[in-house]
Amino acid sequence: MEMRDVDRALVQAAGAVARLRCRSATHTTAAAVRTPEGRVFTGVDVRHATGDTCAEIVTLGTAATQGVPELETIVVVGDRGRLVLPPCERCRQVLLDRHPTIQVVVGPLDDLRLLPLTDLPPEPTRQDHAVSGQ
Ligand SMILES: [Zn+2]
Repeated sequence: MEMRDVDRALVQAAGAVARLRCRSATHTTAAAVRTPEGRVFTGVDVRHATGDTCAEIVTLGTAATQGVPELETIVVVGDRGRLVLPPCERCRQVLLDRHPTIQVVVGPLDDLRLLPLTDLPPEPTRQDHAVSGQ
């Protein structure tokens, strides 16, 4: 699907959070989601002794905290200029369970696209989100 201005704005929102907040080994990715009404929520991952709670999950929780039932689009952006990342397999399952119609922004910045969750290509191992530091 063609990217619209609101989709590009969502990428920018996640990118801004990644630049501002993902500066340590604890927080390495940022996600942004948009509702059909245009509300946007963001979140960062939380890496901890037992693993990593993904930015996607934190962001879904943030939206749920605000009582939002429906999400239209999600994007994940990595730290240190890693740009747009696909959701990990675990998050895809959560999204499929909770928001099966959600669209995902994928691709390099100069060729971003929106894909239905079920059309995402298999994930090349994204050892969750960690590039750095550990
Ligand atoms: Zn994940």
